[in-house]
Amino acid sequence: MRIKGLLSLAAVAALALGAPVVAQQSVAPRPPAAPPKLLVVISVDQYSADLFNEYRPYYTEGLKRLQEGVVFPKGYQSHAATETCPGHSTILTGNRPGHTGIIANSWVDQSVTRAEKIIYCSEDPEAPGATARDYVPSLMHLRVPTLGGRMKAANPAAKVVSVAGKDRAALMMGGKTLDQIWWWGSNGFVSYRGTPLTPLVTRVNEAITRRLSQDMPAMDLPEICKSHDYPVEVAPGVSIGTGRFARKAGDTRIFRASPEFDAAILALAETLIEDQKLGRGATTDLISIGLSANDYIGHTFGTEGTEMCIQQVNLDRSLGAFFARLDKSGIDYMVALTADHGGQDAAERLRANGIEDAQRLDPGLSTKTINALVAAKTGLSGELLLAEGGPGDWYANKALNAADRKKVLDAAAEVLRANAQVAVVFTHDEIAAAPEPSGPPESWSLLTEAKASFDPERSGDLLVLLKPRITPVSDASRGVVAGHGSPWDYDRRVPILFWRKGMQHFEQPMGIETVDIMPTLAAQIGLKLPAPGPGAGYDGRCRDLDAGSPSSCPAQ
Ligand SMILES: [Zn+2]
Repeated sequence: MRIKGLLSLAAVAALALGAPVVAQQSVAPRPPAAPPKLLVVISVDQYSADLFNEYRPYYTEGLKRLQEGVVFPKGYQSHAATETCPGHSTILTGNRPGHTGIIANSWVDQSVTRAEKIIYCSEDPEAPGATARDYVPSLMHLRVPTLGGRMKAANPAAKVVSVAGKDRAALMMGGKTLDQIWWWGSNGFVSYRGTPLTPLVTRVNEAITRRLSQDMPAMDLPEICKSHDYPVEVAPGVSIGTGRFARKAGDTRIFRASPEFDAAILALAETLIEDQKLGRGATTDLISIGLSANDYIGHTFGTEGTEMCIQQVNLDRSLGAFFARLDKSGIDYMVALTADHGGQDAAERLRANGIEDAQRLDPGLSTKTINALVAAKTGLSGELLLAEGGPGDWYANKALNAADRKKVLDAAAEVLRANAQVAVVFTHDEIAAAPEPSGPPESWSLLTEAKASFDPERSGDLLVLLKPRITPVSDASRGVVAGHGSPWDYDRRVPILFWRKGMQHFEQPMGIETVDIMPTLAAQIGLKLPAPGPGAGYDGRCRDLDAGSPSSCPAQ
């Protein structure tokens, strides 16, 4: 028997005697490392824990590397309204949407002066010249600071940069105090109104314009995607499942819903890191990156066709290339990657693939239909209820007197509860009276999830939650075939991954929340926060990223 030199005498003796060999590896307590010089916080839009789980074995580049760090495969966007704006508002504030104030992508505000009372989460509805279509981006609705804001308050030398495919992702992760913020406009990256493009962003936009001006042939179909390649009809004459992102020159819609888009966002992030010298100063800097293509692809093509498979392969590659270039720069960086919400496949493919009870949203839950039913029941007329229709918040018209308002809300609750797709209708008072969420997010009740999304001033008079497995799109013929937003785990569960060079790997299958990311990263960079609990200003808790002892979190 040939024995390698490294095998200890004791192990040789144990082998000879047939005794079990005990591994000599020990997890020695490491001295507290210096804080990383750069935090790279990445949100992959609509990256469900289910997608992560499905593709985990096939990642070979960036997403493989992150799995060598600390892996929480079941993180939770723990609240009920699992949409992009609330989801991004949790990641770097450490607060659930009930405390960020970002209860949904949009909500009804009957105090605004314009005719359209549905306001968008990151717009200023009263800005001069603003309309609902041509809105003015703003963070006025975000009630809490982000990690970047806290870092700058502690040390103004800290640099904070935010980039994303969507304005709401860049804004909610970036926060109010930062150095640069960019998101995709209609033809290139832009910032707040009136912010001139820097020479660097101009150059990046020119490169994208050149790329956009060319036809793109269909992308290669990787070996692992071949089994996904079959059509599923989602509306008469409309099929998904076999797409490969071929596009005509100038087609920005397909560009945005393709892996090219994430590559463009990462290219901007990488050049900003270099240009702004992030990670090169005396203190830790932060860049947040919102990769939006995954969500556009999920909405346009669903989650189980060639489209999402090609996206997963390319996301892995683009992240791998991005990290490789960061490695070359020599910066000591730490990555946290998560998502703003999960997602669900299109009802037709769910049904074709063993989930026979999957359905599309009942068009009978539209605001118009429910208003008509409530009018018939109460004898009242006019716009009695304001809502976007379907699941979510419903508001009584504020012009109603107290008696009529009660009549309308009672009738609406009855009509909505009678719909076969409705799981539950909570009233404003019921949610207000519920205790603050606590305990493992995997075992919360629907009422607790609703509480996590509840803002007493902004939330509706009624909250409608649908039964599981309902695709929240009634008509799949108009370009959107699937979605998210429900209180069910396929929409709430997202991976939470932390990676830094030299980090001891571990995986923790128990649920944690995305609100835990902020205090966890604060501890990594030595940023002091008030002790957790009521009045702390954040809902999350620091998670120990040190595989052994001691803890990477401050003693509380
Ligand atoms: Zn999203």
